[in-house]
Amino acid sequence: MLSFKINNFLSFLNQKKYPFYFFIMGIFFVVYAVILDQIRVYTKLKENNFNSFLKSEEFNNIKDFLFENIKSPYKEYNHIVVDNDTLEKVLKKYNVSNAEINNLISETNKKKLSNISSGAQIQIITKEVKDTKQIVSLFYPIDAITSVEVKRNKDIFDISKTVLKLNKKEIVLSNTIKNNLYSSAVKAGIEPNIIVEFANIFGFEVDFQRDIRRGDTFEIYYEQFLDDNNIVRRTGKIIYASMFVNNKEISLYNFKHNNETGFYDVDGKSVIKTLMKTPINGARLSSSFGMRKHPILGFNKLHQGTDFAAPTGTPIMASGNGVVAMAQKYKGYGNYILLNHNSTFKTAYAHLSKYGRGIRKGVRVAQGQIIGYVGSTGMSTGPHLHYEVIKNGKKINSQRLKLPTGKILSNEARNKFEVERIKIDVRLAKLRKDS
Ligand SMILES: [Zn+2]
Repeated sequence: MLSFKINNFLSFLNQKKYPFYFFIMGIFFVVYAVILDQIRVYTKLKENNFNSFLKSEEFNNIKDFLFENIKSPYKEYNHIVVDNDTLEKVLKKYNVSNAEINNLISETNKKKLSNISSGAQIQIITKEVKDTKQIVSLFYPIDAITSVEVKRNKDIFDISKTVLKLNKKEIVLSNTIKNNLYSSAVKAGIEPNIIVEFANIFGFEVDFQRDIRRGDTFEIYYEQFLDDNNIVRRTGKIIYASMFVNNKEISLYNFKHNNETGFYDVDGKSVIKTLMKTPINGARLSSSFGMRKHPILGFNKLHQGTDFAAPTGTPIMASGNGVVAMAQKYKGYGNYILLNHNSTFKTAYAHLSKYGRGIRKGVRVAQGQIIGYVGSTGMSTGPHLHYEVIKNGKKINSQRLKLPTGKILSNEARNKFEVERIKIDVRLAKLRKDS
C-alpha cells in the first residue's frame, strides 16, 4: 500500500508540472509572510491612533468610496436646497419610496419641522430594500439656530430638534454717511434686516432719497443673539435709533404702551403719523371702494379709491406728512397728485381743478396742508375728489384702513416713558464707552 503511494508521488514529481506548483507555493508563502507582518504592525497601533484615523480625511474618503462604489445598500447624499425645494421634492429626487416620504412628511408637518430654505444643506442616508429606498437618517436645518434630526427606528421615525443656545448681547453701532445710508450701515457692521427696520422707523421723519447729505450721521442700539462661537445667529429689537439729518438730531426710543411697541421721540411723540381717512372737509362720501358700474365706461369695474362729492374749489389736504411724487395731468385721473409718506404708504388725489400753492414734484408737505382743490378734470361726471391709499404698491380701502394713531404719550404713560428713556440713555452711554 505504502510503496504504491510513494511510487505514485514520485511519478507525480517526475511529471514536468512540478516546477509550476513549486512556484505557486513560493508565492503563497511570500503573501502569507507579508500579511503576517501587516497584522503585527496593525496590532501595534494604539487605540487613539486608530481613533484619529477614523476621524481623518483619509477615512472619510474611504467611507465615501464605500458608500459610492461598493454595492452597499446604504447611500449618503448631501443636498443643497434651492428655491422651490421642499423636503418632499428632495426625497423624491433621491428615489425614496412614496410611502416612506408620506409617512415622514406627515410626522414633520405635525411637529412643524418641514420648512427648509434655500442654501441649507440636507444630509440624507438611505438604504435600498427590495428595489425601493428607505430613509435611514436625515439631518437638516430649518432656521439659523434650529436643526432637525430624523432617525429610523424599525418602522417609525424618531424626530428630534436641536436649538442652538444663544446669548443676548446689546450693541451700539454708528457711522457717518458717505454715499448712502445702506452702504454706510453695512460698513459699520449692521445686519441688513436691522438697516431695513431702521429705515422704516425713520420713514415718517426722513426722506432717504432727498434729505440725506454726506456727513450726516446715525446710531443704532439693538440686540444681537450670538452662539458659543460668538457668531451672530439672529438679531433682536432696536432699542434706540438716532439720526443727525437736515441739521437736527432726531432720537427715537423703543417703548411699549398698551401692549404695542412703538418708537417715540424725546417729547413722547410717536413717530408713526396716521393718514387721514377723509382728507377734505364738508364732503360727502359718494362712491366707496369696491366693484361698481363705472359712470362713464358703463361696465362693472373695481373702484380702487373712495369718492367724495364736494363743490369745485373745496380745499384738499395732504393726508399725512410726505413728499409730492407727482403733481400733473395723469390719464383719466385728470389733474393728479401722488404723495409718498414712507416706504409703505402713498396717497393719490384725482380730478383736481387746480393745485395748491407751491405744490410740485419733490416738495415736502405736512399733514393737513392744502395741496389742491376739488374739480372734475379727467374721466369724471361731476366735481368730486377721488382719493386712493396705496400700501406697498397695492390700492387699499382707505375707509377700512387701520393705522396706528399719531399719538403723544400723556400722564402716566408719559411718566413711564420718561423713566424708560433715562434707563436707555444710561445704558447707551455705557455701551458707547465700552465699544
Ligand atoms: Zn373715484
